[in-house]
Amino acid sequence: MLDEKFVVRKRVRGKFRIALVYPSTYEVAISNLGIRIIYHLLNLDDRIYCERFTAESDRSIETGSHLSEFDLIMFSYQYELDFLEMAHQIARLNLFDKPKIIGGPCTCNPYPLKCLTDYVYIGEAESGLMKLIEEMMDGASPKNLASLEGLFIAGVSEAVRRTYPRRLDTFLPALQVSSRRSIFGDALLLDVSRGCGWSCLFCLGKNFYAPYRERSLDQLAEVMREGVIRGDYEAVALIASDLSRYSRLEELIEIARELRRDRSFRLIAPSLRADAMSEMLLELLAESGEKTITIAPETCEELRYRIGKGFPDESLLNVCKLLKKHGITRIKLYMMFGLPGETMKDLEEAVKLVREIKDLGFRVRVSANPFVPKPHTPMESEEFEDPRILRRKLKFLRRELGRILSTDGIRQAYLQAIIARGDERIGELILETVREYRKPTLAAIRRKAKKMGINLDDYAKRGSEERPWRRIRLT
Ligand code: SF4
Repeated sequence: MLDEKFVVRKRVRGKFRIALVYPSTYEVAISNLGIRIIYHLLNLDDRIYCERFTAESDRSIETGSHLSEFDLIMFSYQYELDFLEMAHQIARLNLFDKPKIIGGPCTCNPYPLKCLTDYVYIGEAESGLMKLIEEMMDGASPKNLASLEGLFIAGVSEAVRRTYPRRLDTFLPALQVSSRRSIFGDALLLDVSRGCGWSCLFCLGKNFYAPYRERSLDQLAEVMREGVIRGDYEAVALIASDLSRYSRLEELIEIARELRRDRSFRLIAPSLRADAMSEMLLELLAESGEKTITIAPETCEELRYRIGKGFPDESLLNVCKLLKKHGITRIKLYMMFGLPGETMKDLEEAVKLVREIKDLGFRVRVSANPFVPKPHTPMESEEFEDPRILRRKLKFLRRELGRILSTDGIRQAYLQAIIARGDERIGELILETVREYRKPTLAAIRRKAKKMGINLDDYAKRGSEERPWRRIRLT
């Protein structure tokens, strides 16, 4: 039972049918604001009916239609390992000849995708997706489409510049599709800003969504009011890389506070920076019942400065004291290990920081994963650490932190590293493997790589020697 509201219902007959696929679970898909925006944006057009799919079914959520019935299939590629699911869906249903567009931040390296699709849309949907779809509806050939900004066309137009709206007051639906099964609950999602004013050297998000842009207070206020009053959402999530940086934050908080006098809803701020925390925001989060805050200190203080996330442990500890003062006593910390130059001493320091936070009376959860070098970042040429060393480091963290630690594991990160800095051969390797296995293990991928003469360890460690993604310009 999806328990959704604001699902778009249309008559199917005579429509240009678009399948919008999020190749992961329903919970992750419905929590993604990008999917909600694209879904409603495309459905504004009477000629189009856009329906949603996840990895869990070949049938659409809206009408139960099969994926193969659609005129155009669009995939949202947010996370490297979703490549496996996309490849599997395309191969299993033999969708190779269907028009397909892949978009999302992982398209910053479109080369592994060439075996799956001709069209990769690199950038933010609002600036050019509608134009692309209109051209496709009119039957434009790849050659005619080559001049569109942000559109990578395999073999036709491969040196591409990312496209994005210069001003952010773009379409933001107030009555957006939502479900209690989203990770935020039944929530209205608002992207307060895109891009990030900080410069962490490992961060792809900063570069994919650059430059930093803010929505106007007027637009946010209007959408929040309409959403809360007419949409009756149980929560409002303010989405931003660093919410505290929003220039009209105090006024925005005041508007939310006023609305909460009439309607009860939870306010959620999914990610905050420890060195720029607004006390007013914390107060409102606490007032609205928020019990958990997520912060990403990444590593110990010294390494944190070296990777460009320059704030001292002291700032984090001060924030914790502030959280406590407002009754927020649960904290989730995102950490990395396997960073270049990292020693066991650095990990000991990171563990010490976690213990200090626990000692302040917090229920702490730590999510720790290996550092994966991403293309288009200043750390794109760093090495992915030897998995044997990573395993030792993870063992140490497990021993020291016990059950508060969660991780996706070394194998996942290894595969992520291969795909993130991969090339066409890596795309073909994954495609060939998923043709045989629904969910291939790393051992199966290794066997196939050996047959194809691909040295997987080299790809994981350093990425493709060709560095093909450098032909793509993000700024
Ligand atoms: S603060 Fe977060 S989003 Fe911004 S650059 Fe650093 S890691 Fe990226």
